[in-house]
Amino acid sequence: MYDAVIIGAGSAGLMCAARLVSNGVKNFVVLDSNSKPGKKLAVTGNGRCNLTNLELEKDLYYTDDHKLLDSVISRFTVIDTINFFEKTLGLKTVNKDELVYPRELKSSAVIDVLRLYIPLECFVFDSKVTSIRKEDDYFVVEADREYRSSNIVIATGGRSYVNTGSDGSGYKLLASLVPQDCFVPLSPSLVQLKTSDRDLKALTGYRFSCTIRLVCNGDEKACETGELLFTDYGISGICTMQLSRYLESGKNTIVVDFLDKDEDIIRSCIENFPERDTRDALAGVLPGVLTDIVLKRIGVKKLVSNNEIDRFISELHEFGINISGTNGLDNAQVTRGGLKLSSLDENLQNKLIKGLYVCGEVVNVDGPCGGYNLQWAWSSSVIVADQISRSIV
Ligand SMILES: Cc1cc2nc3c(=O)[nH]c(=O)nc-3n(C[C@H](O)[C@H](O)[C@H](O)COP(=O)(O)OP(=O)(O)OC[C@H]3O[C@@H](n4cnc5c(N)ncnc54)[C@H](O)[C@@H]3O)c2cc1C
Repeated sequence: MYDAVIIGAGSAGLMCAARLVSNGVKNFVVLDSNSKPGKKLAVTGNGRCNLTNLELEKDLYYTDDHKLLDSVISRFTVIDTINFFEKTLGLKTVNKDELVYPRELKSSAVIDVLRLYIPLECFVFDSKVTSIRKEDDYFVVEADREYRSSNIVIATGGRSYVNTGSDGSGYKLLASLVPQDCFVPLSPSLVQLKTSDRDLKALTGYRFSCTIRLVCNGDEKACETGELLFTDYGISGICTMQLSRYLESGKNTIVVDFLDKDEDIIRSCIENFPERDTRDALAGVLPGVLTDIVLKRIGVKKLVSNNEIDRFISELHEFGINISGTNGLDNAQVTRGGLKLSSLDENLQNKLIKGLYVCGEVVNVDGPCGGYNLQWAWSSSVIVADQISRSIV
């Protein structure tokens, strides 16, 4: 009989285990269907792992229980997280503005310090949990064999990037224990956007530094500045992912400002090269394919009059992209929905089933890019580990 069985050796499961060790608890096991720990952690931040955010704004998370989310992150804060990584696990961190990374800018360093702090014998890999049942005052976990404990931690992640192991089976395990109304339906968050605008195909592979706004059913929802990448299905890049969080049903449009305050440069190029066609006149400031698309959209072949130049500039400021959908859960960085946070008590223990703890992305909490989702994994798993440690002393 173990003091705890942790299901999932991802961000939350590893941190939960490390915290148990630092609290002096060693009689636990971490099960994972993968053959090694932290497969999703390895791909975070483009392989650099954006650990957390020094200016984390809790209001930016989506959840069904903001009060509990606030309490969890206030009890194990961003600074607590950095201190734990630095002082307990021995990871050196660096900041790039408000974003915090391992000093080596390698996610493998984060996985290594967590993995090495946890005794090797506590891990069982290639062990997929297929069922959990409650017997008297303990749980029986079916995986490569049966495991028994009065404390179970579900840290199975969301349902995106399935090849990292988070295949959604954690929701099924939970659904066998708690009522169906404890779940919020799953949807993709932080995901690329698709468009049906055929004229944009020609822009595939182009990147722009620009400001983009999301307009849903006529109302502006959010605005981001950064790099916009055009792809064969639509648009990508961090600012696209950020805006994808605010999509609504109905008509969604991304409005791109390609120019910011640079409109004088367009006027001067047209004035300086009157003999050239517009594409060539603007060759030094805009890709020719974009010039062609914008000319077509405003129905002009060559910019000559001031009115035509004004309309061209205005289209570059307000370039609309009709959004037809997202690239789906499989390609999303984060899953929205899952087990309602409000079904858990202040220590993330199920309100009805004693000893059933849940942390990380399987819970209905998701944040923007910039270390928010890992911070939730760190804070929620530490709260769980501390409660388990208190309960077994
Ligand atoms: C490409 C990408 C980049 C990202 N970059 C960042 C970033 O830079 N910063 C940030 O804050 N967030 C980032 N995220 C989000 C972040 O990685 C996740 O929110 C976080 O890893 C969730 O942690 P978790 O422990 O809940 O789930 P996971 O890390 O997904 O771990 C879940 C584990 O549970 C195991 N498991 C699942 N079901 C079972 C089962 N039935 N039996 C046994 N084991 C099981 C899985 O194999 C997996 O190892 C990124 C995500 C992606 C996809």
